[in-house]
Amino acid sequence: MTSPRNMPPITAHPTGFVRVRGAREHNLRNVDVDIPRDALVVFTGVSGSGKSSLAFSTVYAEAQRRYFESVAPYARRLIDQVGVPDVDSIEGLPPAVALQQQRGTPSARSSVGSVTTLSSLVRMLYSRAGSYPPGQAMLYAEDFSPNLPQGACPQCHGLGRVYEVTEALMVPDPSLTIRQRAVASWPLAWQGQNLRDILVTLGYDVDIPWRDLPKKQRDWILFTEETPTVPVYAGFTPAQTRDALKRKLEPSYQGTFSGARRYILHTFTHTQSALMKKRVAQFMQGSACPLCEGKRLTKAALSVKFAGVDIGELSQLSLAQLAELLRPVAAGQDKMKLSVEKRLAAQRIAQDLLERVSTLTELGLGYLSLERSTPTLSSGELQRLRLATQLGSQLFGVIYVLDEPSAGLHPADGEALFTALERLKAAGNSLFVVEHDLETMRRADWLIDVGPAPASMAGKCCTAGRRRGVAR
Ligand SMILES: [Zn+2]
Repeated sequence: MTSPRNMPPITAHPTGFVRVRGAREHNLRNVDVDIPRDALVVFTGVSGSGKSSLAFSTVYAEAQRRYFESVAPYARRLIDQVGVPDVDSIEGLPPAVALQQQRGTPSARSSVGSVTTLSSLVRMLYSRAGSYPPGQAMLYAEDFSPNLPQGACPQCHGLGRVYEVTEALMVPDPSLTIRQRAVASWPLAWQGQNLRDILVTLGYDVDIPWRDLPKKQRDWILFTEETPTVPVYAGFTPAQTRDALKRKLEPSYQGTFSGARRYILHTFTHTQSALMKKRVAQFMQGSACPLCEGKRLTKAALSVKFAGVDIGELSQLSLAQLAELLRPVAAGQDKMKLSVEKRLAAQRIAQDLLERVSTLTELGLGYLSLERSTPTLSSGELQRLRLATQLGSQLFGVIYVLDEPSAGLHPADGEALFTALERLKAAGNSLFVVEHDLETMRRADWLIDVGPAPASMAGKCCTAGRRRGVAR
């Protein structure tokens, strides 16, 4: 066991330490280290040194595990299970937030606007200060949300796209028989066999090429909304099945049929598995919704304008453009001829929005739009987005764990990133950052250098010290 070589007293005066003893996660070899709280701590080291194993797989994982233990059993189902890190003990550990992670299952509905909560402010702006066409009653903020039934476009249910499932997509090779998996969109393994066996019971020929089946039969198999439940004789040939049905033999089980399109749409809407969703999506052809033109909202919501644009168009603007649009409103200049009440509401909300949008543009994210879906963001973009959002929160006493937040950031925007990190620290939080960027290392109050160079020695030694001790 090796202990960290502590360098001379630090200047940041941390109020305490997270004391890690005997960390052995992944490639760490019994590492002991004291990490200061209320400081900007950078975990560095060559690739494979174990810096992420220490920051994420040990410190963050243990904080998550303790949080998990503290919540009621029914709530645990909603949280991703975390393993127990391989470590003897960790003392002085506050709750931790990892900024690079998506919370819960990443969904297509998670967007820059929803993650930053800017969208809810924009909805309030349209509700309170939008200009309504004659005859249109005032709408509530919720009426501008595509994720709520009252706001969602009735045709695409707020997705902005409509999906078509065609025979050509589901049966790419009509020369195959049903037994040869002509219906490519069917589930794999047992469930696919089950559907085939049900068709045998129902009297369909599963051994002739798909294209030779009558159209009426093909349409029923693919597009029916009926879900008949019938006896299934697993492992029987079609002839044996007919015989068993005639003699009313005890079936293996009762099976329920689902049409191929019904299965695809149901799975796409309800599955929690990103992999399943991706699998069925290949049988769906998407196009912009003709009713809302991809703007996801009801006609009523889209009839309300602010500064000449509807909320769908506003959500497509880049954050830099949005700031331009808001600036005169926030300054109290009114080109829209609003009532006094509306003008004051518009000014107040616009000031609030502008301040938060500016933080995002300073962090080099001015090119993003509110509607941009977060699963399409890079890790660096997502972390800076969530960092900016945390600046507005009142949390303190938390460890924020980041993984190369400067990745993909233009060097000119680096200063804003440090300012953001410093502000979170000043609010009483700890920043644990895995990073090999030299500038970030120079800014650190404390450096944890994990592992000497040779890969065979990785994670064996752990050096900690204030940044003054680090070669520049
Ligand atoms: Zn629509």
